[in-house]
Amino acid sequence: MAQKGFNAYTMAQEQFEKVAEQLELDQTTRNLLRVPMREYHFLIPVRMDDGNIKIFKGFRIQHNDAKGPCKGGIRFHPQETADTVRALAMWMTWKCAVVDIPLGGGKGGVICDPHDLSEREQENLCRGWVRQIARDIGPVRDIPAPDVMTNSQHMLWMMDEYQTIFGGQYPGVITGKPVELGGSLGRPEATGYGLVYMLREALKERDTDIANATASIEGFGNVARYAAELFIEYGGTVVSVSCWDQKDSCAYSYYKGKGIDLEELVKITDRFGAIDKKKAENLGYECRPGKDWLKHEVDILMPNALENSITKENVNDINSSVKLIICGANGPITPEADDVLEKKEVVVIPDFLANAGGVVCSYFEQVQSNQNYYWSKEEVLGKLDDKMTDAFHKVWELAKRKKVRLRDAAYMIAISRVAEACKLRGWI
Ligand code: GLU
Repeated sequence: MAQKGFNAYTMAQEQFEKVAEQLELDQTTRNLLRVPMREYHFLIPVRMDDGNIKIFKGFRIQHNDAKGPCKGGIRFHPQETADTVRALAMWMTWKCAVVDIPLGGGKGGVICDPHDLSEREQENLCRGWVRQIARDIGPVRDIPAPDVMTNSQHMLWMMDEYQTIFGGQYPGVITGKPVELGGSLGRPEATGYGLVYMLREALKERDTDIANATASIEGFGNVARYAAELFIEYGGTVVSVSCWDQKDSCAYSYYKGKGIDLEELVKITDRFGAIDKKKAENLGYECRPGKDWLKHEVDILMPNALENSITKENVNDINSSVKLIICGANGPITPEADDVLEKKEVVVIPDFLANAGGVVCSYFEQVQSNQNYYWSKEEVLGKLDDKMTDAFHKVWELAKRKKVRLRDAAYMIAISRVAEACKLRGWI
C-alpha cells in the first residue's frame, strides 16, 4: 500500500541484491530474479447495487514459477499499488522456497475498500476479477488465495466463476476455500499456528520456556488471532493486541497487563477485525491510539498487521525487555530498523519464513483438492508443524554457521533453491 517514503518493492529488491551479493550470483540470474516474470494489470467493470457500473483496477503479478505454479493471495485495499503487489509476489517466491514446497510466487490485488461494498457488489467484483485473469491462472499455472481483507467466501465466488468459464470442477484453482466446498481443515489457523510453532522452536534454542513468555501483538485479524490462541494454549501471556479503527482513522492497541481474554475480544470484533472500543474499555482494556503495542515490557513482539510497521522512527520505542520479534505480516520491519535491532541483539524471525504456515497449508489444500480426498485437522496441523519446524532449524543452523542474521540465512536458502530450479530448467 502506498505510504509516504516507503516502497515495499524497493525494499524487496534491496534485500534480494544484498543476498545475491553474498551468494555471488551471476548477473543473468540476478536479472531474472529481481523482477517479476509476468504482470497483469486490468480493469474490472462491476455492476453496483444502484444499477451503475463502477470500474475497479486489478492486478495479478507472477514473480517466478521455476519451482512450480505461482502461489499467493489477493488483497483488497484502497491504497493498493502495483509496486506493493510486485514486492509481495517476490516474497511469495522466497516463502514457498524456504519451506520447500513445489510452488512459485505470485500476488494479486484490487484497489477497493470492501467496507464500502455490499455482499453482492463484493461477489460481482470477485467474479469480475476472475473473468479478467481466468486464462492466466489455474491449478497448473497460478493459484490465488485469501490475503488482506479477502476471505473464504471471496475465494468460493472466484472458484465458481472459474469453473463456470471452463465448464468443469477445478477446486485446485484457488485455496482458502470454505471447508464445506474444497477447503482444508486447519487453513484458517495455519498462518498464526505456523508462526507459533516456529516461535516455540526459537525459544527452545534460547532456553526460554514459552509458558512463561509474554507477548505484544500488532493486529487482530486472522494471523494475529490464531497466533494469540496457540501462544496462550502453550501457556504464554498476550498483554496487547491492536487494530485499525475505521471511524477514527487510526490504530488502537488494547492492553491488559494480566493478559487479554481472546474469546471476549473476538465477541466484540466486527468481520473486518475491528474491535469495538467502548465495549473493550468496559471490559477493562486500556485503549491507546498509535504504536503503543511496541512499548510494552514483554519478551516477544509479533507485528502481525501490515507492512512498514517498525521503522527507524519508532524502533527505539521498543522496550529493552524485548528479545525476539517474529513477523506475521509481510514486510513489517524496514531494513534500517532491522539494522538497529541487530545491533541491540534482538532476534528477528523474518516474515517470509515466520508466516509461511498459510501457504504451506494452502499447498496441502491444493493437494487435497486435486486428489479430491481430504485429511483430518490433526493430520494437516501435524504436517504443518513438521514443515515449519524443519524450515526453522535449517535457517537457524545456517545463520549460526555463516554468522549472519536469520533473514539473510532464510534468503540464502530460498534464493539458492529458486536459482537452482531455474538452472535445471535451462533458463539461466
Ligand atoms: N496470503 C498468504 C501469504 O501471504 C497465503 C498465500 C497462499 O496461501 O497462497 O502467505
